[in-house]
Amino acid sequence: MQYVTLNNGVEMPVLGFGVYQIPPEDTERAVSDALAAGYRLLDTAASYGNEEAVGRAIKNSGVPRDELFVTTKLWVQDAPAEEHTKRAFETSLTRLGLDHLDLYLMHQPYGDVYGQWRAMEALHRAGLARAIGVANFYPDRLIDLILNNEVTPAVNQIETHPFFQRAGYQDLMREHGVRIQSWGGFAEGRNDLFRQPLLSEIGAAHGRSVAQVVLRWLTQRGVVAIPKSVRPERMAENLDVFGFELTDHQMARIAGLDTGASLFFDHHDPEMVTWLAGRRVDA
Ligand code: NAP
Repeated sequence: MQYVTLNNGVEMPVLGFGVYQIPPEDTERAVSDALAAGYRLLDTAASYGNEEAVGRAIKNSGVPRDELFVTTKLWVQDAPAEEHTKRAFETSLTRLGLDHLDLYLMHQPYGDVYGQWRAMEALHRAGLARAIGVANFYPDRLIDLILNNEVTPAVNQIETHPFFQRAGYQDLMREHGVRIQSWGGFAEGRNDLFRQPLLSEIGAAHGRSVAQVVLRWLTQRGVVAIPKSVRPERMAENLDVFGFELTDHQMARIAGLDTGASLFFDHHDPEMVTWLAGRRVDA
């Protein structure tokens, strides 16, 4: 496994396992299989409803805690955000059966972001979250958060895949010491990603699958990736991306697939903001 070093010195695997949309009843088995395959970074969220199952798989795996890198996420909180954030964190920690997190992310840039962030800073200072970061922050909000707070987010987890590559934003984040992490690295298969002609051609040249080309392309750019799969053979395939390298020419050709737009939804769309900001997750 290769690691990246976050802005506070914490080391994070460059490739991990995401559990979004894995039903709670299937999550323990999936995470157990992922840990057996060799994954050490696990990415869940309060809003996925499967933290308890992730916790059971961790507990039964026998993998030493200090070999694991566990991320979960804070959903949008009611006011007063500082108080609610502390409670949501404790609930997540209890569900996971852990005494600290490696990374705690603010899941959406909505609500009392500053109150939530101050509470996250306090959790970080208390040693309960080794690193704190954000998700789905677009550049204007990220820079404002950085300028007006003490702790700069260690990570921004954003939609990043061959059709929405975020290269310019990655440069901006790098300037500020924020590590980019990809969600939806396969675009959840949209745009027929797994049969995309250029990615297939490049895969054939290396004797690799499209999934492996995409994960190699992400990690070679320094983007932390967290592919999701419920199938052990795909888990193994997705982890096996460090034995080949894409050429500069291949990287440049893949850059040509960028559409510069989300395949999922627009975080600036008032209807979407209203829905996300108003949604509450049991904490
Ligand atoms: P994804 O990883 O882009 O795609 C998952 C899909 O790809 C599943 O349908 C999976 O099917 C399939 N797949 C996986 N490996 C494959 C392979 N080798 N060949 C063919 N198909 C393959 O989607 P995602 O789960 O949305 O994103 C990854 C993680 O990012 C999530 O699990 C979550 O942890 C995180 N995330 C975060 C946010 C956020 O707002 N912060 C949003 C979305 C996701 P099978 O399972 O059947 O193999």
